[in-house]
Amino acid sequence: MLLKADLHLHQEWSPRLDRVLARRHSRVPFDWKTWRETLTTQVPPGVARLQRLSRVFPAPAEADTDDAFVERVTDALEESAAAGSCYTELRFGHDTVMRPVFMPLFRQAEEKVAAKYPGFRAEAVASLLLWQEPERLDAAIAECRRAAAEGLAGVDLLNVPYSSEADWQTGRKVVDAATDAGLGVTVHAGEFSSANIAAVACMDGVTRIGHATHAPTDPWLLELLAARGITIEVCLTANLILGAVPTLADHPLRRFLDANIPVALGTDNPIQFGTTIDHEYTLASRLGLSESDLSRLTRNAIDAAFTTPDRKTALRADVDAAPASVLTPHVAATVESGDLCSPGV
Ligand SMILES: [Zn+2]
Repeated sequence: MLLKADLHLHQEWSPRLDRVLARRHSRVPFDWKTWRETLTTQVPPGVARLQRLSRVFPAPAEADTDDAFVERVTDALEESAAAGSCYTELRFGHDTVMRPVFMPLFRQAEEKVAAKYPGFRAEAVASLLLWQEPERLDAAIAECRRAAAEGLAGVDLLNVPYSSEADWQTGRKVVDAATDAGLGVTVHAGEFSSANIAAVACMDGVTRIGHATHAPTDPWLLELLAARGITIEVCLTANLILGAVPTLADHPLRRFLDANIPVALGTDNPIQFGTTIDHEYTLASRLGLSESDLSRLTRNAIDAAFTTPDRKTALRADVDAAPASVLTPHVAATVESGDLCSPGV
C-alpha cells in the first residue's frame, strides 16, 4: 500500500468527542451525512458554508476530560493511520494549547496509535485566530512558545476577512514569534478568492498555505508560490463541499504541480466532510495523477512536515520501502463502483 500523509487535519473537537462518547455509551453519533446534504443544498457556496462548520456542537466542552481528550485524539490519529497515513499533523484550535499537559496527552495518543500501526508518526499544530482580542492571542502565542519545548510542531494561522485582503500586521508578529520558537508556520488563505495569497506567501517563515485554491486566477501568483517554495495543502473533499471549486475536474491540483508548486493532501474536517486521507488520494488519482505522482505527494508532505529531521529521515525510508500499490482494497472497490464522492465514513 502506498504510504500517505495528512498535513491538514483539524481536531473537530466536538464532532470527534461526540463520536467517542457515542461509542462509549452505545448511542448513535450526530448525523453528519444529513448535515452535509442540508449544507450543500441550502447554503450558498463559500464563506457561508465555512461558517456552518463551527455552528454545531454535538458534544459539550465539559465532557472533554483528559481521558476523553486522549481518546478523541487517538480516534483521529487512528482513523488516519487506518486509512494509510504514515504521518499526520493534527491541528488544535479552541484554546486547546492552553490545556494543562496538552503535549504529554497528545503523545499518549500518538503512542497508542503507533503501537497498533508501527512506523506511524504524528505531530501537533496549534491553530491561532488572528482576530482574537490581543490579550487572548498573546496568551495563546506564549503557550505555543512554551509548548514548542515539549514538542509542539507548528502553528496554523487564520485571518479575516478571509476572501478579501486582510491586514497582516499582527500575522507578521505571530509568524516571527513562532519561527523564533522553532515552530513551523502554515496559513489558511486563498480558499474562495485569490485574496491574501501573495501577502501570506511573502511572509518569511511561512512555508505552507492551506488551500490557495484560487491562486491560478492570476498566473503571477503561481510563479510567486513556486519561487517562494510554498507547499500547498490541498483538501479536495473540503473544496468540493464548501464550494471552493464547482466540480472535482475544476480543481487546480494539477496546475499547481505543472507550475512546480509542491502539493500535499489533507482531510481538513474529516468527520464533518465524511472523508479519509485514503479517499483524498483516490480523488487525486481521479484527477489523473499517476502512482508516482501520488507518491510524490507523500514525499512533499514529509519535506514540508513540521517534524524533526530524524523523523523525516525515518519516514522517507518507510516510504521508499513501501510497496507501490496505490489504493487499499476498500478504495479500489469504491473506484470500481464509480462511487468516488461517497466514501461513507
Ligand atoms: Zn482547514
